[in-house]
Amino acid sequence: AATLYVVATPIGNTADISLRAWHLLGIADAVACEDTRNTAHLLNRFGLSKELIAAHEHNEREAADRLIERLRQGQRIALVSDAGTPAVSDPGARIVDAVRGAGLRVMPLPGASAAIAALSASGLLGDRFHFIGFLPSKARQRETALEGLAALAGTLVLYEAPHRIADAVDALGRVFGPARQVVLARELTKLFEEIHRCTLAEAPAWIAADPNRQKGEYVVLVEGAPAGEDGDDADTDRLLRILLAECP
Ligand code: SAM
Repeated sequence: AATLYVVATPIGNTADISLRAWHLLGIADAVACEDTRNTAHLLNRFGLSKELIAAHEHNEREAADRLIERLRQGQRIALVSDAGTPAVSDPGARIVDAVRGAGLRVMPLPGASAAIAALSASGLLGDRFHFIGFLPSKARQRETALEGLAALAGTLVLYEAPHRIADAVDALGRVFGPARQVVLARELTKLFEEIHRCTLAEAPAWIAADPNRQKGEYVVLVEGAPAGEDGDDADTDRLLRILLAECP
């Protein structure tokens, strides 16, 4: 049964743990996790207590060696991150790669991921999307990164830290133009969940309208560039169409 199970955990609402994940966490020999305190707390909420092994971004390689040793002894190990799906803008990929490279079995236990949850409730097209994860935190690098994304036709899915959300939305407006649709998905599955769709021109005012909106976790989704047009032309075109539709 030696297997590394990559287990998704809730992104807010505890009830989003899957029955399979609950069962597996119950029978695992140990749980490798990003933050032992956080995971101890999570397991406690499910009435579980397990040996925890720290496996965060600063020790992924050493952690992988230790896990491989235990897997070779026939153990079942669960790998979790603080929230959502491991290895999605979270540690985990290096461990999975090392375990697979050692010829050992890795199985995913799918569940919550903020990106997919946000996309599913955004109303933006989900048949083609680009997961960007976090943008660079420095303004210059962020704009350069965005310029490289402006002509993509699929929906863009970004993660952003609460203290940078206002700056990020400003930068999106500058680079993609004011007319593109954006969906701001905040505090998903939590008490103060909000999913707001507007244009990039309108987004800064929505964020500024409530101080709570400068807090909390965000997924930002931006509609893709219209097919066959490059960024600038596409935006001018869209803006003209919107203005024309408003004309009497
Ligand atoms: N591995 C996680 C996943 O599968 O979604 C992502 C981890 S990443 C370190 C954390 C980021 O995910 C946050 O900064 C935020 O952008 C997004 N996120 C996590 N939980 C969220 C939630 N409940 N609502 C909105 N965004 C969330």
